[in-house]
Amino acid sequence: MKNTMESYFKDVEERELLYQANKIAVMIQEGNYLYNEDKKNELLLSLEDKSIEENFRILIIDNNGIVILDTNNSDIGKTFLIPEVILALDGKNNSTYYKNQSTLYASSYIEDPFSHKKGVVLLVSSFEDSELLIDGVSQKWFILTIFISIIIGIFVFFASEIVIAPLNKILKSINEITEGQLHQRVKINGNNEISKLGEAFNTMTEKLEQIDASRQEFVSNVSHELKTPLSSIKVLSDSILLQEDIPSEMYIEFLQDINSEIDRMTEIVNNLLALVKLDYREAGLNIAETDLDKMLDDILKRLTPLAEQKNISLSKEYLKNVIIDADEMKLSLAISNLVENAIKYTDSEGSVKVTLDCDHQNAFITVTDTGIGINEEEQTKIFNRFYRVDKTRDRETGGTGLGLSITHSTVILHKGSIKVSSKEGEGSTFIVRIPIKFVEKQE
Ligand code: ADP
Repeated sequence: MKNTMESYFKDVEERELLYQANKIAVMIQEGNYLYNEDKKNELLLSLEDKSIEENFRILIIDNNGIVILDTNNSDIGKTFLIPEVILALDGKNNSTYYKNQSTLYASSYIEDPFSHKKGVVLLVSSFEDSELLIDGVSQKWFILTIFISIIIGIFVFFASEIVIAPLNKILKSINEITEGQLHQRVKINGNNEISKLGEAFNTMTEKLEQIDASRQEFVSNVSHELKTPLSSIKVLSDSILLQEDIPSEMYIEFLQDINSEIDRMTEIVNNLLALVKLDYREAGLNIAETDLDKMLDDILKRLTPLAEQKNISLSKEYLKNVIIDADEMKLSLAISNLVENAIKYTDSEGSVKVTLDCDHQNAFITVTDTGIGINEEEQTKIFNRFYRVDKTRDRETGGTGLGLSITHSTVILHKGSIKVSSKEGEGSTFIVRIPIKFVEKQE
């Protein structure tokens, strides 16, 4: 900046000095001042005034390089052949020269009426004033720069405190979570992007903790469920081994018991495998156009003997003929679970009804029974894995507590939903919603 200012000021002053040198040369030429002694004095006076007024020294030098007039009066009679004077006598009437970077020279030649070079006007100006000014401005600019730098430094420090510190908190928590401490939460004040990041981070850790807890619960449930039939088998086989001379009927009875415990374990394992497969999401789905009427007919046909055993009336009502995109095998198992439960949890002489209806977007399959019902608190839990309302009763009915979670996962995989409404002692209604492909016209 200092250099730019210097060159600008020098440029302006140089042009001004040359202009003044030319003006004085023209004045001397036109007034014929150099050949008339009286006029010479008059010229000296006017040049002295000009010198004071404009703050430069004026020298008039003849064509031999001798000073004939000097507003400083110090160099009269001396030879003054600096390059500016020589150039001017050569006919180049404007040139400048810096000496010590602070003195400026401008020259202009003086001609007689016959265009002979008679002398030179040499103006000498000091650049010191401008330099002082430039130095002053530079100094102020320097102080200002330092001041601005300090302010920027303070700002950056606080900004980084605001931005980096919370990020460090999150980073620390991530490291702790990686080491297995899932209870980590971060607390970031304010309402900005970083505090939102903190909130999202906390939600994520909460989810992780839930997943971890449900994984542990699942493993402990599986172990527990398999332990019961295993201990029964152990007790039964021990009693056979420890007793001598057991009658063959008892043998058969014990082995039948062992066999049914093995069946129960197989059922649990099969259900678990079905659930694990459903957890792989769409990967396992074998989607095809499925006629819901036909699918429900097949289910009812298969379960009629079960209903008949308990003298339960199993009826259907299809209001529309609906086609959906589904994995028929999986969806059929899901709906079977509902109908089977309805039969299982309804006392003899009751009734179970399956209804199919749709609106312009969804099909609705409703399974209603007149059974024992489920109280409100249990209704939210029955879709959980291994959840059974009455454990003792379920062991009699052979339930594993996995049926409804299989149904729930399957329906969700088909982009649908499942709801239950029930009243204890009066019966239950399960409603499954599945998006439809199209509705077939009924004959
Ligand atoms: P389970 O194999 O024990 O039937 P589910 O997951 O199919 O397991 O059902 C979970 C629990 O929900 C059952 O143990 C039962 O207590 C209750 N439940 C399911 N369906 C009905 C129903 N239609 N009426 C009454 N209770 C039901």
